[in-house]
Amino acid sequence: MLKKIRYRPSIRQKITFGYYAIVPIIIALSVFSFVELRFFEKKLLFGKTIAEFFNTTLEVRRFEKNFFLYKQESDYRESISYASEAQKSLEDNMAEFNTLVSPMQTAMLVRNLKEYKQLMRQYANPEIGTSLSKEVLDGMIRKTGKEIVNAAEDIARTERKRLQVQLYNSQILLLISIISLSLLGIVVGHVLSRMVIRPLKRLEESMEIIADGRFEIIHIDSKDREIVSLTNAFNKMLKELELRQRHLIQTEKLASLGTLLSGVAHELNNPLSNISSSCQILAEEITENDMEYKKELLSQIDEQTDRARNIVRSLLEFSRDKDFKKETLPLKNLIEETIRFIKGQVPTKVEIEVSVPDDIVIFADKQRIQQVFLNLIKNAIEAISGEGIVYVRALRRSAIEKAEEEEPEIYNYLKYHGKCTVEEDTVDIEISDTGSGIDADILTKVFDPFFTTKDVGKGSGLGLSIVHEIILEHDGCIAVDSRVGSGTTFLIRLPIPRGTGKR
Ligand code: ADP
Repeated sequence: MLKKIRYRPSIRQKITFGYYAIVPIIIALSVFSFVELRFFEKKLLFGKTIAEFFNTTLEVRRFEKNFFLYKQESDYRESISYASEAQKSLEDNMAEFNTLVSPMQTAMLVRNLKEYKQLMRQYANPEIGTSLSKEVLDGMIRKTGKEIVNAAEDIARTERKRLQVQLYNSQILLLISIISLSLLGIVVGHVLSRMVIRPLKRLEESMEIIADGRFEIIHIDSKDREIVSLTNAFNKMLKELELRQRHLIQTEKLASLGTLLSGVAHELNNPLSNISSSCQILAEEITENDMEYKKELLSQIDEQTDRARNIVRSLLEFSRDKDFKKETLPLKNLIEETIRFIKGQVPTKVEIEVSVPDDIVIFADKQRIQQVFLNLIKNAIEAISGEGIVYVRALRRSAIEKAEEEEPEIYNYLKYHGKCTVEEDTVDIEISDTGSGIDADILTKVFDPFFTTKDVGKGSGLGLSIVHEIILEHDGCIAVDSRVGSGTTFLIRLPIPRGTGKR
């Protein structure tokens, strides 16, 4: 079957898209502004024509007044010439003039200009012949001239007003354009940041979790091609890392198994010699008829076989590579079983004191948590040269108790190695020794992989780093406190899920 290929846009495409979404708008706005400017330029030119028209009408009247005062022909001619000029300007730009005042008003103005010239001619040239007296003509000329100037002034005022309105509108439009463009920029930026930066931020947060030592598969709800492939690559790397870590744990476990075998052999020796002596007695006294005694010997053999089988079983259980599976485990039994493993390695001068209440249970993966105790107890034993004691203590602590009591100094270190919170009920397990202690300079390094102060062949430096990993796998935390010369304490805090914790 053909696999349906889902289109995933890349971050680059998104940014390019965002860019191209804004560019046409900027171009459109620029073209619009250019056209608007051109339009404005035309209006300004027309404004100049209007101003000139108004000035011409004023000139008409100025020469008219001079003519009436000094009766000079040149004044008459100038007045007529200016009136003709005004008329020509009006007729040439009729369409534009009609946008300012009604066509009727422009027609009237043309008519007035024509009539004005006619009246002036009649006044200046009596031979033309008219029934009107000079006084009447004088009055009519003055009236028409005044009407012309008033109309021209009206037109000039309207034009100025319109220009102002247009200028104001352009300013508003420019302001709106700037605001809309800025808003668009913000929106596009925001959308891009949602689409691009957020998944990256989540990726970064997931990385921090991984850097904290929790190999949690990353789930990022992003359709970006880069993020998806980055997430996939990381998840693949995480799986690989987890696999390698499991191998590492297994290798370390097998290595410790080797050393444990001597202790186990010693442990097995006891039941086997018990069985052997019971068998010898039975063989020697086979003819006797004391059935009760024989039964007792047989039951002893059975019991000792069971003991041996248990030792072998727990050893097998420990060595087998099993999947991580948490279960409810009684803590005291678990610790005693672990100590049994190393019994053979404990020097006679070293004492192990266990103080764990019978009713404490933990919710953990048996094999892994056993390895934690094993590594810590082994280190504690190795740190004691000569006489000394290893203490294993456990305490169930409720969130309420923790809130009420002041916690000892070592609890302050917990936050560095794990994600424990005071708000949950926990089992606190302390493994301490009266050994050499750890120098303050190297105390922070002890959980680092391959860090060891032991001789080549004696220490791998993996023990505590594996302990650290396992505790994190259990959502717990671990801390260490030490004084050179007086001993070391490791504190493990495991959360108690609701409904567990007590037997
Ligand atoms: P290894 O035991 O193989 O050296 P670990 O990771 O278990 O590796 O321990 C790292 C180092 O931490 C040890 O080499 C030792 O110096 C120090 N260390 C661990 N536990 C103790 C302890 N209980 N007392 C003193 N030093 C310790």
